[in-house]
Amino acid sequence: MEVVKITPRGYCHGVVDAFRIAKRVRESTGEPVRMLGQLVHNTHVTADLQEQGIQLVDPPNRLAGLETIDAGTVIFTAHGVSPQVKQRAAEKGLTAVDATCSDVVRTHDLVKELAGRGYDVIYVGRQGHPEPEGVMGEAPGRVHLVQTLEDVERLEVDNERVAVTCQTTLSVWDTEELIEAVKRRWPAAEVHNEICRATQERQEAAVAAARDVDMVLVVGSPRSSNSNRLGEVVRKLGGKPAYLVDSLEEIDPAWFRGIGRVGVTSGASTPSQLTRRVIEYVEGLEPSSLGPPEAPEDPA
Ligand code: SF4
Repeated sequence: MEVVKITPRGYCHGVVDAFRIAKRVRESTGEPVRMLGQLVHNTHVTADLQEQGIQLVDPPNRLAGLETIDAGTVIFTAHGVSPQVKQRAAEKGLTAVDATCSDVVRTHDLVKELAGRGYDVIYVGRQGHPEPEGVMGEAPGRVHLVQTLEDVERLEVDNERVAVTCQTTLSVWDTEELIEAVKRRWPAAEVHNEICRATQERQEAAVAAARDVDMVLVVGSPRSSNSNRLGEVVRKLGGKPAYLVDSLEEIDPAWFRGIGRVGVTSGASTPSQLTRRVIEYVEGLEPSSLGPPEAPEDPA
């Protein structure tokens, strides 16, 4: 089977920095080290870090998770935490280490600055992801999370000063649609598109490659926002089937029915050896002539 290795793919600078920080902490202290949530959203990386002695505290809410830690070092993950979490860690006497990606920090700073200038901020993001939780904590009550066009329509903001921004790892195209909807309701809204360069470049490359392949495999974990969005943009804009796989074992041979060329990409938190194994497996397959390809999956 012919494989198109889509580039760029895999680790971004924020993930690499988070690993460096976690490694340094682990090597420099004898006290218990915990990560408050997955350091980066990949199951293999998380298991690896746990094997190296970094314990995982993984609550749906960071503040609640912090209450289960009474001593030692706590690492704030690449997706960032709210100021309330930082303050609580200090109150509890924990040694806090911040591995927040610099691109996420920039969004925190932006929201803080906008709120300081009297703005209400409409924030396009995904409910339940740690990044919105952290960013919204910068200006409680002043940051309004929207996920859909309906959310934008329903939103009540009584302020002449409105700004719109977004989570760093969303789909470039879906976010534009929501930002446009905000602009229709609040024409004077200040727009700050905060999708990070790593996310944008991976999505653009995947959509471009989709034109020349029959199917795309995205190697990444189900909790990885940017990995899920890669599959979505291939299906929606590239018009090709796309499957998210956390490992080689999740690949279903039935997907390759009628397929001759496969694009492979991976999320920003996916170890390259996993992607390499997937590429080698697909390269070893015989091009199939068993009929039409499977229908694309529904977006995750
Ligand atoms: Fe930072 Fe973007 Fe990587 Fe997330 S995907 S860690 S925001 S560079």
